[in-house]
Amino acid sequence: MTIQKVIRMGNPLLLQEGRVLSLDEIKSIEIKTLREDLLETMRHEGGIGIAAAQIGISLQLALIQIKDDQSRYPEAKATKLLTIINPVIHIIDPTLQGFWEGCLSVPGLRGFVERPRKIRVDFLDEHAQPQSLEIEDFLATVFQHELDHLFGKLYIHRISDLTKLAYIEEFQDFWVSKAE
Ligand code: ZN
Repeated sequence: MTIQKVIRMGNPLLLQEGRVLSLDEIKSIEIKTLREDLLETMRHEGGIGIAAAQIGISLQLALIQIKDDQSRYPEAKATKLLTIINPVIHIIDPTLQGFWEGCLSVPGLRGFVERPRKIRVDFLDEHAQPQSLEIEDFLATVFQHELDHLFGKLYIHRISDLTKLAYIEEFQDFWVSKAE
């Protein structure tokens, strides 16, 4: 496993739609290595999700894992490690809910983004087995954020009110206390 460099906003690779993986590719040693590298990189950076695009590889593969002891997003419930390949998102409840999001590719900032509150995601796991998950609340935002990376979108592009974009320190000083 190798920690890879996370590419940042401004790199055009983050704006590319990722390529769908074939079943044979998913089972290949190259994709196994990619998955391991992504996991190592996500843990090194203290993230709760990472997409292949964030290490400069335009494929439809992302990992999500919210650990009990993570502190970046206190509202998040723990999940097991999920590998999400070739996802299709269906909106179940389009009611918008807003959370402050951050991104390893946009370091130092938080922005308030509104997204549908409940979704279903159909995808393939690391064994190329079809999976389907219904997700709501904050986890629905985490999934939509990560899966946006597979289609060339960053959370920054989805902020409708740019007055709610802040450096982390100012976010802590001026916005966290307001939200409580
Ligand atoms: Zn991100």
